[in-house]
Amino acid sequence: MNDPLLDSDAQQFQETVRAFTAKEITPFATKWDLEETYPKELFKKFGELGWLGISFPEEYGGSGGGSVLYAILCAELSKGSAAICLGLYVHTALASSALLHLGNEDQKRAYLPGAMKGEKVGCWAYAEPNAGADVSSVQTRATRDGNDYVLNGSKMYITNSPFADFMIVVASTDPDAGLRGLSLFIVDADTPGVTVNASLKKLGMGASEMAEIVFEDCRIPEAARLGPEEGGFFQALLVLTLGRIASAGLAVGLGTAAMEEAHEYCTNRVQFGRPLLKQQFVRFTLADMATKLEAAWQLTLHTARLVDGGLPHDKQASMAKLFASEACTEICERALHLCGAQGFMKESAAQRFYRDCKVLELGEGTSEIQRETIARQLGV
Ligand SMILES: Cc1cc2nc3c(=O)[nH]c(=O)nc-3n(C[C@H](O)[C@H](O)[C@H](O)COP(=O)(O)OP(=O)(O)OC[C@H]3O[C@@H](n4cnc5c(N)ncnc54)[C@H](O)[C@@H]3O)c2cc1C
Repeated sequence: MNDPLLDSDAQQFQETVRAFTAKEITPFATKWDLEETYPKELFKKFGELGWLGISFPEEYGGSGGGSVLYAILCAELSKGSAAICLGLYVHTALASSALLHLGNEDQKRAYLPGAMKGEKVGCWAYAEPNAGADVSSVQTRATRDGNDYVLNGSKMYITNSPFADFMIVVASTDPDAGLRGLSLFIVDADTPGVTVNASLKKLGMGASEMAEIVFEDCRIPEAARLGPEEGGFFQALLVLTLGRIASAGLAVGLGTAAMEEAHEYCTNRVQFGRPLLKQQFVRFTLADMATKLEAAWQLTLHTARLVDGGLPHDKQASMAKLFASEACTEICERALHLCGAQGFMKESAAQRFYRDCKVLELGEGTSEIQRETIARQLGV
């Protein structure tokens, strides 16, 4: 992930995140994974370091910078723990980003400073038991009642929800209007009528916590609506590019960690009288991994530069997310293979990487949805 073309500020930032990750995250990543709990105090640390505010304006407590720095942050953190990075990216690239891009002045001033400091943690509640890849299936209703809305429905697989302070909820204000009838709402987690069920058990990303959220006659003021009533969700899709950059960066970091693990094992493991690394098959496998990671990282950085330059980037964001996540799955599988039985043990990092990678092809728009976006941009 080193790139001599990064400017000196970006390279320095990369060194800082790398050093922090090596000291504060990597040594504990397996423990957090097995315990299936997110160390929430990390949010405050990230806030103090200014990392939750990257690409957010200073007037709302942000640290400035842009998408390139954000991609570096995700890639370096996920080298230590993809699950820790997942919690950070849902909070920043989805929940806080929706507030920044769709919120009015009052909403931004009320939520962003606390979110940037890590004092208030957010989640992004879109998916439902019957709504996944198909956005038009959202059934959660926000019904107008005087100056309020009343929310009813449930959200599924919501990362950070077991400890989130605020939720960005996608709900239908007009079921007859289909996708155009979907709006966004900011809901405080302690609002009466909100229930967060027990954390769900997952294959991977153990340290990131997720749950189902149920809304039962949950009354929220009109001022809690984020963006317009009609087409609010469409607007969110247009502005939430940071999520795909985060996901691509996360995949590059996780893939790099897996490759390094396999490299180390094959350097030290002696079979047939010499280190495994001397076998051409092993060296070629590592060469293929490195090539895919370099391509994924360059595509990610290219997309981030387009965003920072204010240039069109929708196609590249989908390409970066698609390519990086699929490359990551392949690399984590090969890395586990190279680490042999030792890699298969619960305490090994290789098996954690293998379990963590798959969700990157599902979340933030599945691979099929990314291919649809790319094909549409190609006009085919
Ligand atoms: C660890 C984890 C964390 C998550 N965190 C969040 C979160 O914080 N907030 C949130 O809102 N959601 C979250 N999700 C849920 C995520 O949004 C969904 O997984 C995603 O929207 C896909 O929906 P689904 O899993 O229900 O797949 P489905 O919609 O059931 O699709 C299953 C498969 O069919 C494919 N498919 C569906 N339709 C088509 C089609 N037309 N053409 C081709 N293929 C198709 C899909 O690509 C997929 O491979 C999380 C999920 C996981 C596993």
